Amino acid sequence: IYANVQKGPAIEVFALTQAFKDDTHPNKVNLSVGAYRTDAGEPWVLPVVRRTEISIASDEKGNHEYLPVTGLDTFTNAATQLVLGSDSPAIKANRAFGVQTISGTGALRIAADFLHTQLNRNVVYYSNPTWENHHKIFADSGFTSLHSYRYWDQSNRQLDFKNMVADLEQAPPGAVIILHACAHNPTGSDPTHEQWKELAELFERKKLFPLFDSAYQGFASGDPDNDAWAVRYFVQKGFELFVCQSFAKNFGLYCERAGNLTVVQADASTKAAVHSQLTLLIRGQYSNPPAYGARIVSKVLNTPELRKEWMDSIQTMSSRIRQMRAALREKLVALGTPGTWDHIVGQIGMFSYTGLNESQVKVLINDYHIYLLKTGRINMCGLNTGNIDYVAKAIHAAVTG
Ligand code: PMP
Repeated sequence: IYANVQKGPAIEVFALTQAFKDDTHPNKVNLSVGAYRTDAGEPWVLPVVRRTEISIASDEKGNHEYLPVTGLDTFTNAATQLVLGSDSPAIKANRAFGVQTISGTGALRIAADFLHTQLNRNVVYYSNPTWENHHKIFADSGFTSLHSYRYWDQSNRQLDFKNMVADLEQAPPGAVIILHACAHNPTGSDPTHEQWKELAELFERKKLFPLFDSAYQGFASGDPDNDAWAVRYFVQKGFELFVCQSFAKNFGLYCERAGNLTVVQADASTKAAVHSQLTLLIRGQYSNPPAYGARIVSKVLNTPELRKEWMDSIQTMSSRIRQMRAALREKLVALGTPGTWDHIVGQIGMFSYTGLNESQVKVLINDYHIYLLKTGRINMCGLNTGNIDYVAKAIHAAVTG
């Protein structure tokens, strides 16, 4: 029965992580997977998350009953508020609601399924480059017209806004356009406020559907409100849209799969039907979501002292990343490594799109045991005061070699 099944391609980021684990070199460095690391190179359970999980686990009245199909209300309401703002007119008018999903990936998948099956959408555009899973999720959902829009100017190592706009001008009315809400993965380069305004004008004129992928709220600037600026601007302009939220990075809850799909409508009257169809989609896929991560996020966001502590931890993470950006740039400049390295500090969020090419990446992996994606994307959190000299010297050698 299985004899004709062809082996599929490896998933680069997980293959690199495995290769890193198998590598016995003492100086090995993992700059591939997008996960936060402390300055000691360790995963970080946010202190407020640790205390909250202990308090939830020790609640004698707690149990493991099923959640409703669309998840924990206190979580979806808090998540929707986090991205749209507590004073959001859309929330006040009952035009916005959330459904719990299997982290950000699950939010994207449920969004894609809904758009395809309920709204007959077939055309999707994602940035080039983007998070590699965007294509797969929408193709698996049945979208048959998948396109990329230009986003990155490799020679100047910055956002290619002119060509982004030129490509989106070609999109047909109704096309679903995936936008990274902040801290674009992999380039770390976001549109400015003025550019977002221009995009909103284009989306309105061309009747494009904005689907915001929000996997890094808080990671870009350290301030979740700031990082939601683009989403809130589009909502304020009256768009109907989706936001796919992940709590993997900003709560450090990677494996707990806490996510939310926020739906913004023009009118509260469509809520019951849309909500019911999302419910049926989830029912057919996994019936109901896991509770663990959602309970933690809910308790933290809904308790002012805990929420404040979480905001402090976000600052800790984003400022460590900024320090590493400055340090890497400084070291490459001091070494006289050919090229300009200002983009490393100009980019925001977890990643830097270094501009290293595929053969330079090979040198880093094979000769220096430094693991990164072949596009040259590095996870800044993999750098720390203990390995940054080694990494900078290796990059210097790969570039000059
Ligand atoms: N979107 C983007 C842009 C991402 O980088 C990620 C995580 N790598 C996700 C969505 C989804 O992540 P998760 O499913 O772990 O929440």
